[in-house]
Amino acid sequence: MTNYRHQTVMQVRANRDITLPQLQHLLATDNEDEVKELFAQAREVADSVYGKKVFLRGLIEISSHCKNDCLYCGLRRSQTDAVRYRLTDKEILDSCAKGYRLGFRTFVLQGGEDAWFDDTRMVRIVGEIRRNYTDCAITLSLGERSAESYQRLFDAGANRYLLRHETADAAHYARLHPSDMSFNNRMQCLETLKRIGYQVGCGFMVGSPFQTVETIYKDLQFIRTFQPHMVGIGPFIPAHGTPFAGEPQGSVETTLRLLSIIRLLHPHVLLPATTALGTLHPIGRERGIMAGANVVMPNLSPLEHRKDYAIYDNKICTGDEAAECRNCTEYRMRAIGYETVVERGDYKSA
Ligand code: SAH
Repeated sequence: MTNYRHQTVMQVRANRDITLPQLQHLLATDNEDEVKELFAQAREVADSVYGKKVFLRGLIEISSHCKNDCLYCGLRRSQTDAVRYRLTDKEILDSCAKGYRLGFRTFVLQGGEDAWFDDTRMVRIVGEIRRNYTDCAITLSLGERSAESYQRLFDAGANRYLLRHETADAAHYARLHPSDMSFNNRMQCLETLKRIGYQVGCGFMVGSPFQTVETIYKDLQFIRTFQPHMVGIGPFIPAHGTPFAGEPQGSVETTLRLLSIIRLLHPHVLLPATTALGTLHPIGRERGIMAGANVVMPNLSPLEHRKDYAIYDNKICTGDEAAECRNCTEYRMRAIGYETVVERGDYKSA
């Protein structure tokens, strides 16, 4: 039951807004009842918009090559022991075919920033998927590209784009990225994607080095004003060989609380329980759903390349066939009372 102790949770829910002191309180409190109430309220809000359904996205990791040198990422260009691969057109299309048979109606093509996947190649691939699967959503997550490129991919049939903003604090951004990467450009890309008509996802890592409650507060305010269709958050996990290899990993508990807070601030958002959350806790993704998430993204990449999309260490599900990932996800969700559904799972506007 709600009581005076849960005032903060109820206020955040009612206002769809949070103050810095409220955020500080909700991230710091060790009152278990209050935390339970936070999760329960967020779950109730998610149920009221999307029901007891979990949307599936089939993730296809198309390239482990990257021209960028993000300090946290195991695929940064200076990572000398990364195994670099690129999927062929056929491998990508075969992954979609397999995914379609397994009931996926969204394909997410993700990769490093790899010039091999130029506009000509990507337009060809996206166009082919669009023609073969008219009832599916195509999501891209290929980093920063030009406005013209985003437009061409949209015209070829892509519907959604995931581009985590990583942090809404410019000074923090500059500590996570080399000086040739620009906070303003990343934010500009998000605006451009939205203007073109994509359903857009932003997001950030929880517990990235130099993150503070103040930078998280900025992330939340950015989410409130930008009104993305999707928000991807997951704990930071150190990757060997990177400048942050020795940094502490992000907290599962904080990630769960932030999932709930994001759900309360933005009831309609599509919110994945991420692989990173599942990597740090055996039932991390289930706990994410119970905290208000409503999307899971099982891996559809060809088995032989799975382990080489190593953005962080100890990533789970690198040894499972797509069908196993699909079944495992369904089983796990059913165990907590949720159905994985065969539908596109578009954003529901208010
Ligand atoms: N090149 C694409 C895809 C990046 S991978 C892009 O720029 O958008 C997707 C996300 O993984 C990144 O946006 C980042 O937030 C997250 N990520 C990268 N390294 C990570 C790490 N060490 N721990 C946890 N998440 C990480």
